[in-house]
Amino acid sequence: MNAVKPAVTPMMAQYLEIKAEHPDALLFYRMGDFYEMFFDDAVAAAEALDIALTKRGKHEGSEIPMCGVPHHAAEGYFLTLIRKGFRVAVCEQMESPAEAKKRGYKAVVRREVVRLVTPGTLTEDSLLDARKHNFLAAFANVRDEAALAWADISTGALHVMPITPVRLGPELARLAPSELLIAEGSENDLSEVVEDMGVPMTPMSRGAFDSSSAEKRIASLFKTSTLDAFGAFSRPEIGALGAIVDYLELTQKGKLPLLQPPLREATQSVMQIDAATRRNLELTHALSGGRAGSLLATIDRTITAGGARLLERRLASPSLRLSTVHDRLDSVGYFYEHRGLAGEIRANLSRVPDMDRALSRLSLDRGGPRDLAAIRNALGQAQEMAAGSYPGDMPTVLKNALGGLEGHDDLLELLEQALVAEPPMLARDGGFIAPGYNQDLDESRQLRDEGRGVIAGMQAGFAEQTGIQSLKIKHNNVLGYFVETTAKHAEIMMSAPLSETFIHRQTTANQVRFTTVELSELETKILNAGNHALEIEKRLYDTLKGAILEKSGEVVAAAKALAEFDLAAGLADLAIAENWCRPDVNESRDFHIEGGRHPVVEAALRQQGGAPFIANNCDLSGGDEASIWLLTGPNMAGKSTFLRQNALIALLAQMGSFVPASKARIGLVSQLFSRVGASDDLARGRSTFMVEMVETAAILNQADDRALVIFDEIGRGTATYDGLSIAWATLEHLHDVNKSRALFATHYHEMTALSGNLDGVENATVTVKEWEGEVIFLHEVQKGAADRSYGVQVAQLAGLPPVVVERARVVLEALEKGEREGPTQKALIDDLPLFAATPTPAPVVQKGPSPVEDLLESIHPDDLSPREALQALYDLKDKL
Ligand code: ADP
Repeated sequence: MNAVKPAVTPMMAQYLEIKAEHPDALLFYRMGDFYEMFFDDAVAAAEALDIALTKRGKHEGSEIPMCGVPHHAAEGYFLTLIRKGFRVAVCEQMESPAEAKKRGYKAVVRREVVRLVTPGTLTEDSLLDARKHNFLAAFANVRDEAALAWADISTGALHVMPITPVRLGPELARLAPSELLIAEGSENDLSEVVEDMGVPMTPMSRGAFDSSSAEKRIASLFKTSTLDAFGAFSRPEIGALGAIVDYLELTQKGKLPLLQPPLREATQSVMQIDAATRRNLELTHALSGGRAGSLLATIDRTITAGGARLLERRLASPSLRLSTVHDRLDSVGYFYEHRGLAGEIRANLSRVPDMDRALSRLSLDRGGPRDLAAIRNALGQAQEMAAGSYPGDMPTVLKNALGGLEGHDDLLELLEQALVAEPPMLARDGGFIAPGYNQDLDESRQLRDEGRGVIAGMQAGFAEQTGIQSLKIKHNNVLGYFVETTAKHAEIMMSAPLSETFIHRQTTANQVRFTTVELSELETKILNAGNHALEIEKRLYDTLKGAILEKSGEVVAAAKALAEFDLAAGLADLAIAENWCRPDVNESRDFHIEGGRHPVVEAALRQQGGAPFIANNCDLSGGDEASIWLLTGPNMAGKSTFLRQNALIALLAQMGSFVPASKARIGLVSQLFSRVGASDDLARGRSTFMVEMVETAAILNQADDRALVIFDEIGRGTATYDGLSIAWATLEHLHDVNKSRALFATHYHEMTALSGNLDGVENATVTVKEWEGEVIFLHEVQKGAADRSYGVQVAQLAGLPPVVVERARVVLEALEKGEREGPTQKALIDDLPLFAATPTPAPVVQKGPSPVEDLLESIHPDDLSPREALQALYDLKDKL
């Protein structure tokens, strides 16, 4: 039964029917050149897009809210809506109004949803960051087993891995997917972890995750009878992959992107780094939020978008396989040695467009002539690079990549012959097939162009015939070709004899427009020829697209190869420019760094043009036992920088890069942990101290003897004795139970005594010098404990009012004396009101002349101009 009430127009009935199938998406309903939204969709979209909300007709007695966006500008609106958490169902007209009319006077144009736009399924360049992956992930849980699958539909990569539910957070942090598919009903269990990572969840029916139907779906996608061809997958793995395929079919309305066969990623093959560590080490984002100031931004010298994405992937997942690490280092080493060659390759790469994404758009029928040209240009560069000469022994990874660059001659020749150098954006406008490629097309184009030439001649003839020199022949989409004169001349045109030739069409404010029999005949000819040319071009477009898709495997291999060359040459360029060295990565448990530096801090210091970065050594090679450095030293001395630089060096080495050091020997690091005491994390609504303890617990429960751990000021978030005890016990556990390699920075000097009890603990300190009451940071890390913390001096540097600084000095001295001489002195201090309201300055313990005296000493009144004298007075006042 049709539930539509008689008051509903046929179009609105169609709208409501389609909308009912897409309740959780905004329905973009195509009407001519616009996408229109109605009812609640219109209200939500108008607010989100900041566009006008209007009305159209009535439904069940109330006005229907409506808003719309022009279809050619829709992409920009998609992006805004997706960023605001909406999904969009794009509903197109599947026939022209003329075709609909053939079915009956009142027939509504047939419409269908052709695509669902969601964060994980974007392919348009304008909606994606070219240098980042855009992953769609799915999490499946079958009883005690779970799996995570992820796909980048803009490049076709498909991966899966077994996972324990507790590892979901860290893996989401590593992959940073744009959307996570989960089974209906598991929202509550997963929401805390997933929302913490800022990943939008899309629940799907449990059926989508069902492993037996999923297996069939995937096998038919890859045209094999069973999945075994790609390896043995567990039930949750198949379920997660199946959900991805199902979702792609749903959102792309049956047009599946060119997915590559699923690759299983073993958990044991990559260095484990959890979300807090990633944040803390500022791998891909700085703590301030942006990409600038992150490790990725500092080391990215890749030229192509594909190379940049490969770098992002490697940085997110440093390898745990020695052979992989060595292979990658060999590639970088090759370009490090052959610098001239690397330069040439990088110059070639600058002409390589994003082939992966062009291919994906073509496969989803969302491409255009520029995508064909992108593939032509990239394959052209690939061929040139394949034909180059490569001196010496080429490392395996590059040799394999070279194979991918070769063998595209036929496809390349076809595209080179068929396409113009710089084709337009849209296939429907034509003009992208090169002259000389297709005779039929050339003839139609010639007819069309000649017609245009005849029109130009006709204008001169009409001007002569009418005696109106300002007469013009023009063209617009409504009238087609027409003769135009100013209103002043209209009367002559509209009276005999001219009125016999010129037929009036339109009068505007200042112009009058006419046509003639001759002009409209010519126009029909031009139109026909033009349309015929367009049809031929459209057909050729499909043929070329088909030729590319048929070779998609080879095209993907070429894209991979280009990215591999780009990354290796980019990392070599970085190593040369920054003076980095090749690390010796091995099976031992060593961690021996000479002249290590923090790449991001070093770059920042250089940019500021101030003091250079001071390189430091680090040695945590404890054989089979724990090896921990306990680092003390004042604030601002460089403790955090030292800790982080060593973590980054391990990570860089295992992702296959040279490292910022003069020498590095690193036994494989299986897990990397980094914790910082009580940073403010109010955004997540937990007490800072609680966060610190949760994170500390995670390390103590997980770190093994291959882990590298850095703890920065743990215990800072609570009262002194609590904090000290927690830090103390944590260090002991790390030493006795976890047996990890670790760097432990603390401001609890009491802990330096631990090195006497624990064999694997050594004291180290970042040196400072005290000079004329001020502290100077040397940033040198040395063995031994810091003598004191210089907090008061640092406070002074920070601009605390002098009277407060002096007061603090006195209190400190009294406190220290109290510790040495017993409780009587201490009681005395307890009685001291910290901010005694007495204006009398506290006694200042001075060594030598004061800064004021120093300055006075240096002033020679005879040498001063009045202006300089005034400045000297100001300076003196400043010293008070
Ligand atoms: P801490 O953790 O001891 O408080 P940081 O590591 O935050 O100190 O370092 C404070 C500042 O000192 C950094 O921002 C940087 O400008 C500078 N710095 C740190 N280490 C070095 C170094 N090795 N060489 C030069 N400057 C450094």
